[in-house]
Amino acid sequence: MSTKTVSPIATELDQMHALYRQGGRERQMAPHIVYADATCPHVGCEQRMQAIDFRLEAHGRSVHDPLVRAWWDDTGFAGRCPRCHGWVHFTIGAKRAITAEEAARLPRLPENWHAVAIIL
Ligand SMILES: [Zn+2]
Repeated sequence: MSTKTVSPIATELDQMHALYRQGGRERQMAPHIVYADATCPHVGCEQRMQAIDFRLEAHGRSVHDPLVRAWWDDTGFAGRCPRCHGWVHFTIGAKRAITAEEAARLPRLPENWHAVAIIL
């Protein structure tokens, strides 16, 4: 249990997030996401990356199953930006720029993920 005080609103948001993840995991829902920030998280990169339908099913079960699991358990997964080739960590809550070392410790999208995904 956490000892820090949390506001009721933060608690409610946490519960909503937990419920959302539970529902998604149970139904093995395909990861698609709309982020608040419109572009690649790497500084200076203009690659649009706001709404993403990863279309993991197109890569077959051996890719789809572990990545869908990682998505819904909040681990997320890493993939390279098609423009700057920087690694990006995608999760339900956020996308962030990470190093290759960090990406190596995460489940990773196939190299051609951006050719298969729908990125807006
Ligand atoms: Zn980029």
